[in-house]
Amino acid sequence: MANQLLFIFQGNQLLVTNSESSPALPNKSFIDLIKSVILRDHQVGFYEHVLCRAIEVSEDYTPSAGYRFTGLRTLFGVFDEQLISLIGRALQIVEWDRSHQYCPKCGNENTRHEHELAKVCPSCSYRSYPRISPVVMGLIVRDTEILLARSPHFAPGMYSAIAGFCEVGESLEMALHREIKEEVNVSVDSIQYYTSQSWPFPHSLMVAFTCRYVSGIIIPQPEEIEDAKWFSIDALPLLPHPVSVARKLIDFTVANIKARYHALH
Ligand SMILES: [Zn+2]
Repeated sequence: MANQLLFIFQGNQLLVTNSESSPALPNKSFIDLIKSVILRDHQVGFYEHVLCRAIEVSEDYTPSAGYRFTGLRTLFGVFDEQLISLIGRALQIVEWDRSHQYCPKCGNENTRHEHELAKVCPSCSYRSYPRISPVVMGLIVRDTEILLARSPHFAPGMYSAIAGFCEVGESLEMALHREIKEEVNVSVDSIQYYTSQSWPFPHSLMVAFTCRYVSGIIIPQPEEIEDAKWFSIDALPLLPHPVSVARKLIDFTVANIKARYHALH
């Protein structure tokens, strides 16, 4: 039978081999070692034509010799982006399965839908799907400067683009205008979509935009924003990890400004 790749989680931690520099994932033969501690098991897709399964094991499981549990973030830049994104999907499915054991409407125990990634209540037929929370991210440009901010939980010295959750009833553009006004007191226009990225901590969909500064003096939102300022593209601070959508948005925008500037001068 064809091989399989196992994404084995305990809580939010993933099982990999001990090697720090090139950790590997367990394959199908590993299933015999964990049979008795499996809490949930979903097929999540294919990586290079190999079926991948998301499995959660109970808290009392201790990794076999040669294996360890690690956070997904530690694997950024170690595994390729396709694999990271599939593991992120697996992590979200496991988390959703764990937190949707019961019907939110009538409290009965849910069952799994046969074909869809959904839970069905056998009593009232209510369906529960995995939750996705859109987060808008905006990089504000003013000539050859960009506005970057830091929240208190960032690594020391690191700055990033403005970001915040979309509220119910809002379009992405409305959310972006509101978040930027709230967090740094600035007005923008010329909002342009750049890219999006699933961010499984715990179930965000990051949607990244560039926008143009119009007016306003920066006033950081108390408690949310520790510091915010304009940075020249030639003197940028510490930026987020290259795998993050924030960093891609910043790199893309800076490259664009440079290209435009050189074309004019
Ligand atoms: Zn129900």
